[in-house]
Amino acid sequence: MKERNTMDNEQMIIDDTTINVVDQSFIKLVVDVKKELKLVINVKQAASAVMIVDLLGQDQRLNIETILADHSTLTVLYLNAGHNLMINEEVYIDQRAKYKVAYSEMDEDKVKRIANYYLRGFQAEVELVSVALIKDQIHQEFNCHHQQKETVSFKEKILNKSITHIGYKGKWIIMQLSQGFLFLSLGMGGDLFLKRTADIGPDKRYQLRLYFDDKRSLYISFWWFGYFHYTDNGFEHSMTSLLGYDPLGDEWDLDIFYKMLEGKKGNIKSFLMDQHNIAGIGNVYIQDILFYARLHPLKKIDTLTSLEKKKLYNAIIGQLKKSADVGGLKYEKDLYGDNGGYDFEYVAYKKGKPCPVCNTTIEEIKTGATKSCICPACQKQ
Ligand SMILES: [Zn+2]
Repeated sequence: MKERNTMDNEQMIIDDTTINVVDQSFIKLVVDVKKELKLVINVKQAASAVMIVDLLGQDQRLNIETILADHSTLTVLYLNAGHNLMINEEVYIDQRAKYKVAYSEMDEDKVKRIANYYLRGFQAEVELVSVALIKDQIHQEFNCHHQQKETVSFKEKILNKSITHIGYKGKWIIMQLSQGFLFLSLGMGGDLFLKRTADIGPDKRYQLRLYFDDKRSLYISFWWFGYFHYTDNGFEHSMTSLLGYDPLGDEWDLDIFYKMLEGKKGNIKSFLMDQHNIAGIGNVYIQDILFYARLHPLKKIDTLTSLEKKKLYNAIIGQLKKSADVGGLKYEKDLYGDNGGYDFEYVAYKKGKPCPVCNTTIEEIKTGATKSCICPACQKQ
């Protein structure tokens, strides 16, 4: 009940309305009406919102229309969503948008069925928010809302600030400023160069350019999509606050990994790629990681022996560290334009070539939305 009480101070009282989300937003909706409530949620391009709908455990009628533009994300958490709830929900979603839904009193299969039903005919990704995590998340997201009250433009927020520290979380680069934080994600890839401002004139290939007073500029270009966000506090960024363990960080170890896998039933590749579990493993690295551990990507987690889990743990750290030590992948460039030194070691992107261990021809298989190269002899399902 603690979280609930805290949030009540901030509740939004609305009648039939349209909510436009243009950046990162937290929406708390307490539904306490007997009549039917009509609500339109319009999430603009590249924006993301977390919406908590608290139904107060009463009979409620909700008529929700959700419009999701390119690369937008909407997470809806229904609290007190018991059998009395009647939601008439229509979702218009772009293929590259994400719609996540969770009901606090329903099992995962039911939530998934409902989400798929609403998204039928679309190829968008349906992702479920862990029901067990809901309470912690509310509290965190509430803080986020509370501190984003004042609206000052993005430029004003970062003008005349210095970058005091640069870190990362998962696939995000986090720049701590003398006041505030910048969060950068290159999405499916991008360029990030630091150059003397005079060396490059106006260049349309870059979507963003930060000028520094030492006459250098940081150029950012997204190959497909990306995010560049400002927050006053590091913890209030919803897209990174949900990320899982840093595989190269001190907080993650073998015992935690064992515990994370306990009771899990899905396949191992999906688990490792889910950024809410471990943040930072993408399709590029997972293929050689799984080969090193001699695991088939679709192998079920509950069939793994503790030796296999240990091998996998070592493979994750080993492969990522090897790449980080030499500045990333061969085709990636650092801030100054120099290439990394890591090349694929075993089977990744080597379809048709011989396995480095047993010479069997490497195959490419479909693993959900992604593909994986495997050695069919070394990595049996
Ligand atoms: Zn092999």
